[in-house]
Amino acid sequence: LPVAPTLFDEITRGTVQTYPHDDTFVTDSAAAATALSAGVKTYNGAIGVDVDKKPVETLLERAKKHGYQTGLVVTSPVTHATPASFAAHVASRSDAQRIADQYFDQKINDQFRIDLILGGGKKFFEREDRNLISEFKSAGFQYAESLQQLNQITGLPALGLLADDGMPHALGSTHPTRLANMVEKSLDLLGKKPFFLLVEASQIDWCGHANDIACAIAEMHDLHETLKVVDSYIKDNPDTLLIMTADHNTGGLTVGANNEYAWRSELIRDIKLTASPLAQALLDGKKDWRKVWDEQVGITLNDTDAKAIDSLLRSAPPKDAKSARDQLARLSLDIINKATATGWTSFGHTGEDVLLFAKGKSSELFHGNMNNTQIPETLMKLMK
Ligand code: ZN
Repeated sequence: LPVAPTLFDEITRGTVQTYPHDDTFVTDSAAAATALSAGVKTYNGAIGVDVDKKPVETLLERAKKHGYQTGLVVTSPVTHATPASFAAHVASRSDAQRIADQYFDQKINDQFRIDLILGGGKKFFEREDRNLISEFKSAGFQYAESLQQLNQITGLPALGLLADDGMPHALGSTHPTRLANMVEKSLDLLGKKPFFLLVEASQIDWCGHANDIACAIAEMHDLHETLKVVDSYIKDNPDTLLIMTADHNTGGLTVGANNEYAWRSELIRDIKLTASPLAQALLDGKKDWRKVWDEQVGITLNDTDAKAIDSLLRSAPPKDAKSARDQLARLSLDIINKATATGWTSFGHTGEDVLLFAKGKSSELFHGNMNNTQIPETLMKLMK
């Protein structure tokens, strides 16, 4: 087959409207995640609060009140907009330290609201003014700070801060399926009792912002591996419901751009790095940059593109100069997008409806075109 079937196709059930509570039509991750966590449309930047900045009850909190175990698993910092909107309440998404504080300080029935926290963002927990890692440990949380250490976690509650900021991109990483690995571990830890787990393949969005198609495909691959893990868990535990959607589109991806009726996916498969480390490798290998290009990208360069790279490298100041690297990254992506007929319309988010996926118990309630707020409304009714 020219297009192989995926698990995504098997569980597609409809589309979701993502617009925020203003007249822009285009949401950010905070407003979208608050809509998905609490069923409330709010303003861009809002974390678990409504337009009046009042806290709104989230699915995770409701689950905890009903005695479920709860978890957040992401590849961004664990304080990033999406996970934060399920377990914190602040007026602005940029307030990462307060979000981390709330994970520790805000209790439900005297219990921690989150039993399992996995992802990046160590720097928001280990600070001059407060060391939340020690506080979590003293409170009985098992702690890991690398994917390897994650294996040593034997029970809940647990905190894994596996990177200082975001985790490394899947593409070019030694752990290209780190989300799938984290989710497998999470289901081991959570999956014996009723649980609510929020999983975000956070960096699909970051690759979209960069208009980096190889980066995006590698993140989608990790998500697909994650879906395999969840799929097999549901087969063994049919009393489980999986809902998957996007908070919004990013980058306005087009498959087949520049009036071409083609998309050369086979060229994308050979690309080994995201744009920024690629640009750094070209700068480091300056004299023999063609060899670096062939090894890391593999796309045949036409004379114009080769000259453009060459002249950028020649004019580049000392190799660590950020602007030279950024220009080279941009140029490399332009070449890759053109060669593969991949198009983008924005470096930001775009407002089209996103896809809705569901599998497992009660998944038939999720279908057709839904507003993003209807997803938690329906889930809250099921959560008894
Ligand atoms: Zn984004």
